[in-house]
Amino acid sequence: MAESRQRQQADEEVSAPAPIDVLKALAREGLTFSDCVKVFAEQDHDQDTDAYVSAAEDRYAEEGSIEVDAPTVVSVSDDGGAYVMAWLWVSNGDAGIADTCERCGNEPVTDEDSGLGDKCRANNDSRVVL
Ligand SMILES: [Zn+2]
Repeated sequence: MAESRQRQQADEEVSAPAPIDVLKALAREGLTFSDCVKVFAEQDHDQDTDAYVSAAEDRYAEEGSIEVDAPTVVSVSDDGGAYVMAWLWVSNGDAGIADTCERCGNEPVTDEDSGLGDKCRANNDSRVVL
């Protein structure tokens, strides 16, 4: 009897999906990273984490450069502070990635003024303006 119960418990442990597999399945069903941030931010939320988030926004946040979600995840340290999750903007140029053509979206931009690539510029240049 006890042996059979142990075997049943062992089977249940083996068949229970790992949290990471549950998360992957939820992501396939539409769970977003933003949803996860909200859950973890609200789970660990208190007066202190609010203070760290406010300080991060006041001191470091810059529109279009460093952005702090509300709510966001805070990792409080024993070293007298906390890490506050934020987003850093990195442009294509900073990353060495060519912008894609504004018209076709398939070729790299070769003319910054028009935002077009060679093929679309060639098509533009051959048009007759009446
Ligand atoms: Zn193009």
